[in-house]
Amino acid sequence: METGLHERDRAGVQDFVLLENYQSDEAFIENLKKRFKEDLIYTYIGQVLISVNPYKQLPIYSDAHVKAYRNKHFYEMPPHVFAVTDNAFRSLIEENRGQCVLISGESGSGKTEASKKVLQFIAACSGNQTTVEGVKDKLLKSNPVLEAFGNAKTNRNDNSSRFGKYMDIQFDFKGAPVGGNILNYLLEKSRVVAQMGGERNFHIFYQLLAGADETLLQELRLERALDRYSYLTDGLNGSVTSINDAESFKQVQQALSVIDFSKEEQRDIFGIVASILHLGNIGFNEVEGNAKVKSRDLVVTAARLLGVNASELEAALTHRTIDARGDVVTSPLNQELAIYARDALSKAVYDRLFSWLVQRLNISLQAKEVRGGRNNVMGILDIYGFEIFQKNSLEQFCINFCNEKLQQLFIELTLKSEQDEYRREGIEWIPVEYFDNKVICNLIEEKHKGIISILDEECLRPGEPSDKTFLEKLTQKLSLHHHYVCHEKAPAHIKKIMLRDEFRLVHYAGEVTYSVNGFLDKNNDLLFRDLKETLSKAGNGIVRSCFPEKELRSLKRPETAITQFRASLNNLMDILMCKEPSYIRCIKPNDLQTATIFNDELVLHQVKYLGLMENLRVRRAGFAYRRTYDLFLERYKPLSKSTWPNYKGPGGSKAGVQQLVKDLGWDEEKFRVGETKLFIRWPRTLFDTEDAYQAK
Ligand code: ADP
Ligand code: MG
Repeated sequence: METGLHERDRAGVQDFVLLENYQSDEAFIENLKKRFKEDLIYTYIGQVLISVNPYKQLPIYSDAHVKAYRNKHFYEMPPHVFAVTDNAFRSLIEENRGQCVLISGESGSGKTEASKKVLQFIAACSGNQTTVEGVKDKLLKSNPVLEAFGNAKTNRNDNSSRFGKYMDIQFDFKGAPVGGNILNYLLEKSRVVAQMGGERNFHIFYQLLAGADETLLQELRLERALDRYSYLTDGLNGSVTSINDAESFKQVQQALSVIDFSKEEQRDIFGIVASILHLGNIGFNEVEGNAKVKSRDLVVTAARLLGVNASELEAALTHRTIDARGDVVTSPLNQELAIYARDALSKAVYDRLFSWLVQRLNISLQAKEVRGGRNNVMGILDIYGFEIFQKNSLEQFCINFCNEKLQQLFIELTLKSEQDEYRREGIEWIPVEYFDNKVICNLIEEKHKGIISILDEECLRPGEPSDKTFLEKLTQKLSLHHHYVCHEKAPAHIKKIMLRDEFRLVHYAGEVTYSVNGFLDKNNDLLFRDLKETLSKAGNGIVRSCFPEKELRSLKRPETAITQFRASLNNLMDILMCKEPSYIRCIKPNDLQTATIFNDELVLHQVKYLGLMENLRVRRAGFAYRRTYDLFLERYKPLSKSTWPNYKGPGGSKAGVQQLVKDLGWDEEKFRVGETKLFIRWPRTLFDTEDAYQAK
């Protein structure tokens, strides 16, 4: 069989540690480009996999490829996402260490595709009893469901994930998957009510309209024409050549069935999706400052789908009740506020539906009982990369904060632990300087002093807090911080490009200017009480459980958006901290979603944001490969007469390995002998020896 797997790579170096001119940006980009042109989209920096989106189907993910990568040593095969997965999977099974695969990169760079390949590989090479099949099926089928509700066409990616996702897969002691758990982060719910030019709402809206049969449409009071719905008409008229909505809808329905969603649950789900389309069409007039619903029919339809009383919904959309320590006052909303309330309702309902879906999937994926008592976990993180837009708001702030935390984790898990190991093993080594971004994390999240605290304080304080007063506080408290730049104190060339309502952060990956416009609103994330109350009594079971009554009764103020986000991130860090990480860094070759263009400048930006040059510098200084003497000898003893079939000299496996590398004539510069392990600087140069041996 010709898989092309064993061909030597045709272009460039497979591992950047082999790059001669390793400190030059140009050489780095040149190597990626050369490989991209040859359809070699994967390259390593040591164990870190760099993946360049090919924007075309490559024949490198077949079953034959899965087989070829299964149980191979990492450096014996060309770089591949399967190699990284196999490596992690083996550590999990053989060494019993929890694993996580961390995938990062900007939108459209191939993160989600990579995460699917990881899952594909695991599914293909782990157990095949029927119970396992069930779990695997559910794991695989959770993707189309989450993508339907959480993905959308953006200008960067026709199938862009608008949420962060961490998925744990649990294995039994034999390496068969027995369960899973998904955590979701920060869905971009603003998309439900508005989209930028050229973009779409979440896929599910279009799928439902295109794919539902007549009976379902009738039941939901929907028409197929997209332009009937105001929430769908912002961006474009909805059809995208790369997307078949009707077909996808079938797949979603099928997936929901496999994951055993009941008929009733499915009806409730689509009822909610439809109700949001109807809500979006509700318009308001204003009579003497009071908003009045234009078409009562729409309210009635939306109310029926949500299972709430229509008059109550109408009142809740046009009034606001404030309960100030027992003083209950209801006042009418004006037109602008009514629209705000309507959109807040749609966003909240959709956002909570999405979280409900994840919870529901988790119930389905829950491991029954783990045989053998041991329970190993492999996590896959597919989360938004660093973002710098023309206008950056609270969403980008959250996303970039998330990336600072992940960089911090990278430092903790990789750079620090690397240096610790050299010390433990008694290997002389010159510590490498690297930038520790802890100082930026603190700037953002430190209690009482950080940006998050200042924002929350401003949101919660009485009086008239505004985005402007928030910015003033920031500047007052942080203007001396090296990573905070305010308009007043910015150097001339920066001042020129900054507005007065902006602040600028020096992130590890670059400088970003944030506009404070809307920070307070988004952070307060207010859904008027009247609406919450209406929903808490809904006949639609999902809606009711998403807006529990106890939330209304609670005297505590609901947590702000950013506080919730920080808590979920810290929880994620705790989960990842105790695992062994594998990294996949995804790069997008151009902004046009085409296979033919490699834009040097664009790629260089990403290489910088991802910290790849620094990563390489550290890797170059260190030793990319290490194995305990026992393992190494067992694997490579056939390479010399003095170790084959067994090493019989004194000094055990350590002495055996020393003898072996001597026989092989390895250059002293290329390896080190530690206390318990052999360290090899750039394994690929040495393992060529083995190829030569096998060829004989
Ligand atoms: P991200 O999750 O980083 O935003 P995606 O994984 O959704 O990006 O990838 C965007 C698009 O790029 C995909 O829909 C697919 O068309 C293409 N793509 C990404 N990775 C690959 C790959 N390995 N092979 C072929 N096409 C890919
Ligand atoms: Mg994605």
